[in-house]
Amino acid sequence: MEAVRFDELELDDRILRAVTDMGFEAASPIQAQAIPVQMEGRDIVGQAQTGTGKTAAFGIPLLQKIDPDCRKLQAIALCPTRELAIQVADEIRKLAKYMHGIKVLPIYGGQDIARQIRGLKDGTQIVIGTPGRVMDHMRRKTIRCDHIHTVIMDEADEMLNMGFLEDMETILSQLPEERQTVMFSATMPSEIQNIARRFQKNPVTVKVVKKELTVPKVTQYYYEVKPKTKVEVMCRLLDMYAPKLSIAFCNTKRQVDDLVQDLQGRGYFAEGLHGDLKQMQRDRVMSSFRNGTTEILVATDVAARGIDVDNVEAVFNYDIPQDDEYYVHRIGRTGRAGKDGIAFSLVVGREVYKLRDIQRYCKTKIIPQAIPSLDDITAIKAEKIMEQAMDLIRDTDLTKMVNLIERAVLTEECTSLDVAAALLKLSMGEENEDIIDSGRPARSLDDLDRYGRDGGGRGRRDGRGSRDGKGSRYGRDSRYDREGREDMARLFVNIGKNQNIRPGDVLGAVAGESGISGKLVGSIDMYDNYTFVDVPREYADAVLRAMKDVKIKGKNVHVEKANGKGR
Ligand code: AMP
Repeated sequence: MEAVRFDELELDDRILRAVTDMGFEAASPIQAQAIPVQMEGRDIVGQAQTGTGKTAAFGIPLLQKIDPDCRKLQAIALCPTRELAIQVADEIRKLAKYMHGIKVLPIYGGQDIARQIRGLKDGTQIVIGTPGRVMDHMRRKTIRCDHIHTVIMDEADEMLNMGFLEDMETILSQLPEERQTVMFSATMPSEIQNIARRFQKNPVTVKVVKKELTVPKVTQYYYEVKPKTKVEVMCRLLDMYAPKLSIAFCNTKRQVDDLVQDLQGRGYFAEGLHGDLKQMQRDRVMSSFRNGTTEILVATDVAARGIDVDNVEAVFNYDIPQDDEYYVHRIGRTGRAGKDGIAFSLVVGREVYKLRDIQRYCKTKIIPQAIPSLDDITAIKAEKIMEQAMDLIRDTDLTKMVNLIERAVLTEECTSLDVAAALLKLSMGEENEDIIDSGRPARSLDDLDRYGRDGGGRGRRDGRGSRDGKGSRYGRDSRYDREGREDMARLFVNIGKNQNIRPGDVLGAVAGESGISGKLVGSIDMYDNYTFVDVPREYADAVLRAMKDVKIKGKNVHVEKANGKGR
């Protein structure tokens, strides 16, 4: 597991700066392999799935090839759904942060075509689109292919599943012969192999070759969480299991810093370890972890390499690792020297599939658990305090205290039991409102296939253009929490960060206009120009009606169901 640094990949300085801003510590395995090949100009068949960092794997070399002075369309990336198109466009824009003059435009069915045409005329060099809508524009000649030198097919197997095979073939056959064709797919069904044979020139296959791994004997649990409640869940697990030393792994340096800040803010002794720290700071953090002053070490995979601490009682996968091998390395940090170890993984939305693959590949068992409720934590805290109290009763002379309590009982209207209960409450501190729907265990990873991404509900596409994404249950990360929440409907709002809107504004508008309680509103995921908001399915239509002529911060908004009208 030799990590490749981004500065070893001979990237444009501006991209390196952007990658640093994004907090990436090292290239993910698929990036380390695919980036140099794509930069050479070769065609690629990349076998990688969501969560491996594949977007940046094709996005970085793509950006290096775009000529910002040429205001013509130079590249198209095809994606199966509009959510993915938006997400890919977002990631590529972040990577292009310091490359002035590059314009990336997501286009998908359901959005006003006139607006897309304006965007296309405005010097867009990269289009990220769903196949139906891209074909529409090609027919209207609002997408012109003569300057296109690169085409990317992202999640090709998903596009096949959604009935886009013909569209993909039509698009590919209309692009200039002289071009680079990059395809990423999690699986390689025969139709996809066929596309590679017909439309690619001598492609290089890129995939992460897996080694045989020995999985340490560590109890492994996982929890399905919402992005907003991740820190809270981690704290509950810390309170419940009270590990003396633990390591929490994050995928980016930025996440390490954020988590350390959150944990410290909640009174935990946490310190971060990542590549930006100087050797002296690293040494300080490590010695404070070794001597127990720091109880939680928050680290990236690269920074944690070479850490040798024997009595780590728990490992947290705060982010699910980008590679199976990382998982094994991470959990191997606990359960050393014959001691018991425990590993907790927090999965958000579709990351659960990544965890399923990790379980399969590692031939291990990752057990679904319910998030402990505040009542559970209260009971455990009380139990611990009672244990300490019993020790005191056994080992100490409490006569002075007994006298004080006796006096209170005689002078006040209370019993000694009341006093004991009040003191117990005082020593347990503030109780918070339970904001988590705890008690429901996560789904079993073995059962996922039955309900999973290919588990029905997705009809073949039978129309053109505007039906892009219909019936798609596709999604990733926080955006797809509803995968586990069949009771929630996802709404699309055509306004986002660039319009100076905050999630609270959307929440306020949804709750205020429809009259449903803000508590019922689920995830709000905000992009530059769009927002997705989850509402209980039973209220979805009422919310849509209520939001019809609404303004948010004085701006007219349009709200519609995010996943087509079919569901
Ligand atoms: P993807 O597989 O492209 O969907 O990426 C999954 C997530 O990993 C996205 O949030 C990316 O921003 C993030 N990511 C991509 N590359 C890296 C990297 N080298 N280090 C850390 N995070 C990354």
